[in-house]
Amino acid sequence: MPIKTFTLQLEWAEMITPNVRHLAFRTVEGEAFTFVPGQFIRIQFTTTDGHELKRSYSIATISSESDLIEFAAGYVEGGPATHFLFGLQPGDTMTASGPFGRLILKDEQPKRLILVATSTGITPYRAMLPELVARIQTHNMEIHVLEGVQYKRDVMYANDFLAAAKQQANFHFHAHLSREKETDLDDYESCGYVQTSFDTLQLNPETDIIYLCGNPNMIDNAFEDLKARNFEIKNIRREKYISN
Ligand SMILES: Cc1cc2nc3c(=O)[nH]c(=O)nc-3n(C[C@H](O)[C@H](O)[C@H](O)COP(=O)(O)OP(=O)(O)OC[C@H]3O[C@@H](n4cnc5c(N)ncnc54)[C@H](O)[C@@H]3O)c2cc1C
Repeated sequence: MPIKTFTLQLEWAEMITPNVRHLAFRTVEGEAFTFVPGQFIRIQFTTTDGHELKRSYSIATISSESDLIEFAAGYVEGGPATHFLFGLQPGDTMTASGPFGRLILKDEQPKRLILVATSTGITPYRAMLPELVARIQTHNMEIHVLEGVQYKRDVMYANDFLAAAKQQANFHFHAHLSREKETDLDDYESCGYVQTSFDTLQLNPETDIIYLCGNPNMIDNAFEDLKARNFEIKNIRREKYISN
């Protein structure tokens, strides 16, 4: 898919957790922007002290439901892109380029696909939802989406994943709350780090393919854990959310 540079205009935005702003844009040229679910765009902006910066954001759009370009920006204290994106108002524009990235679904049929994320790292899997549901039907596979956040209030897009789980018995969604207390949890929630599901699910290098997205520490820890479980590196797909 060719990489393009284009202008995006903010259509609407809302806080979906106390720290995450979901933003929905249109291309102003009226051009269709195409991407493969799992890919990201890079935005370009000028900081308050006049520097030109770029930052990357995974596309969150569920393409069967929207023709907008949506993503979720997590709040980072003192971060320049955070300042820029949290201040954008409907009608404001910015330059972006893309699509980039290889955290996409391959043409393969593992017995189980395990999609692991921390916080906004969940967005590529949201974009994949129609394809994931279709693959369960055609490939007879099991899919587990594991979302790691700090508190119950931080869980993102639970309704989208729970709707897929309602539609397909082999689609499972679980939220891991690393700092929450054991009270008032929904049945898809539990306390602890997202990796605790690796034991519960009894991950198997013969049958499972794993995707990891989000916080670099989680990805490094999970990667070491999976290697110790004899996973081949080609069966562990990673996207680290670093500043670039
Ligand atoms: C491929 C890719 C996809 C990405 N997709 C997303 C996305 O969908 N949503 C999203 O919110 N971000 C995403 N990021 C991260 C994003 O590009 C920015 O780094 C992030 O929004 C912070 O930008 P900033 O300019 O506000 O702060 P930065 O200047 O990037 O960071 C300021 C300081 O905070 C640290 N920091 C950065 N992020 C975090 C964090 N999450 N928690 C704690 N400390 C942090 C940095 O190391 C730095 O020290 C992605 C990054 C990559 C490489």
